[in-house]
Amino acid sequence: MTHPSLPTPERYFMSFAQNAKSLGNCLRIQVGCAVTRTEGGKETLVGVGYNTSPDEDCSCLHVGCMLNDKGRCTRTIHAEVNASNDAKKAYPNGKFRVYVTISPCVPCLEHMKDTLGNIERIYVLHPYRPSESREWCKAQGVDLVELDEEIQPKINAVTAEEGKHDSR
Ligand SMILES: [Zn+2]
Ligand SMILES: [Zn+2]
Repeated sequence: MTHPSLPTPERYFMSFAQNAKSLGNCLRIQVGCAVTRTEGGKETLVGVGYNTSPDEDCSCLHVGCMLNDKGRCTRTIHAEVNASNDAKKAYPNGKFRVYVTISPCVPCLEHMKDTLGNIERIYVLHPYRPSESREWCKAQGVDLVELDEEIQPKINAVTAEEGKHDSR
């Protein structure tokens, strides 16, 4: 068991996503993402990303956001895409976990599935329009863990909705 004075794995790995978030260059929202790989019970950081415009001189900070009809900015490459591409470069295979500061959008979830293949679990710090990621994870059989303010797992949102959550 982790000693109480040490960070939990959730806190430790989410801290990389939280740090990366500060580099996000979209005016609307800054997002950070960390990807880990688990092997033999050991979890290792393998990718970090934040949302960024492909062209630094033509970012949301310079020219404003480009919103789609869902109100999402499409000028940036999302943090989850950058982080999973980063992870894939070093580790083409493995079991991956994703730590992201807000709920991922469906295109990002699809990209991560295509890129990483085996996603064991996704940790979300701040649920943002959470229903689409909950539905996607449920359909794909991917564990989705939404964390509370203390960065402790809440009761899994997907199973809670189904009314079969445990007593944690
Ligand atoms: Zn933007
Ligand atoms: Zn996204």
